[in-house]
Amino acid sequence: MKILVYIDNRKNHIKKTDLELVYYAYLIAKKHGGSVDALVLGSGENAGELGKYGADRVYTLSHGEFFDANGISKVVKNFAEEKSADLIIVPFNSSGKPLVGMLAALLNASTVTGVLDVPEMDDGKFVFKKGVFSSKAFAYIKALNNKVVVSLIPNSLSPEEVVSEANVETVSMAVDERVKVVGVDKVEGKVPLPEAERIVSGGRGMKGPENWGVLLDLAKALDAETACSRPVSDVGWRPHTEHVGQTGIVVRPNLYVALGISGAIQHLAGVSSSKVIVVINKDPEAPFFKAADYGVVGDLFDVAPKLTEAINKFKGN
Ligand SMILES: Cc1cc2nc3c(=O)[nH]c(=O)nc-3n(C[C@H](O)[C@H](O)[C@H](O)COP(=O)(O)OP(=O)(O)OC[C@H]3O[C@@H](n4cnc5c(N)ncnc54)[C@H](O)[C@@H]3O)c2cc1C
Repeated sequence: MKILVYIDNRKNHIKKTDLELVYYAYLIAKKHGGSVDALVLGSGENAGELGKYGADRVYTLSHGEFFDANGISKVVKNFAEEKSADLIIVPFNSSGKPLVGMLAALLNASTVTGVLDVPEMDDGKFVFKKGVFSSKAFAYIKALNNKVVVSLIPNSLSPEEVVSEANVETVSMAVDERVKVVGVDKVEGKVPLPEAERIVSGGRGMKGPENWGVLLDLAKALDAETACSRPVSDVGWRPHTEHVGQTGIVVRPNLYVALGISGAIQHLAGVSSSKVIVVINKDPEAPFFKAADYGVVGDLFDVAPKLTEAINKFKGN
């Protein structure tokens, strides 16, 4: 079996999610047999590192300018055909999501989005696990075609170094563009929330945007990203890019700290897959405590600064 991993490296550094994709492919190849190719879109700086996490061969494709999902899907399709790839793995993020459907159509492949675990094999066909109903249940989906395209949810596994660096080969390929992306405005310097390992999140209990310093201090101490409940972004205390939940971003960090969030079902839908949940709320009856691994009943304006101080002390700051 041949596995192809697509890595969007246009920011020219290999991210943890890229390592997760390659390590996921490695685990599949180890379990079911096969080899792993990685196609890296971008300058390919540090691309050899992907070898440490299981890529047998790494190919980089530099294009120079932005191009859109339509152009990328054709490049990946051509490359997948050239390498006779049976399984193509892309990230479940803004760069991978539009690719899955296009690639499946171009390759006449089965597709499963948002997979979580290394698939089992049934009768020579992959069976993938994915979360459904806002991650309250799991579905097991059998891919019936010979070619399969899947997207992997970030933070589904912890990548480990397994082999040595791979050789990197630069490839060139004509890109058939139907539209041209002439610019992208995006928040720089922040880890996208779906990929964040730690998140500190605030709700209406924060009382107003002027109080966010307490939360930002804790986030800084934990080296965490920041998020919020929907009402907080609806009233403009925080940007909509931080809104998590059923109608916002779905996250699955290793640590989710909730300050002054009640834990409504629509909020939990976006955060309940977090590995460890810490809730600080002054109401002992707040529903979030039922989903929490650790809870502190208390005023967040007392508790959060003490927690920040303790973490900084522990870190020796
Ligand atoms: C269709 C639909 C979709 C929705 N989608 C989302 C979604 O995606 N994400 C989302 O978040 N919500 C969503 N909601 C809204 C959701 O139902 C809740 O209204 C919302 O999550 C509540 O936000 P909150 O917990 O910040 O505020 P509140 O419910 O007002 O809770 C504030 C909490 O802060 C605590 N508190 C107050 N002061 C302090 C203090 N000093 N110290 C400690 N604790 C304190 C209170 O005890 C309370 O538990 C949706 C609703 C609908 C109808």
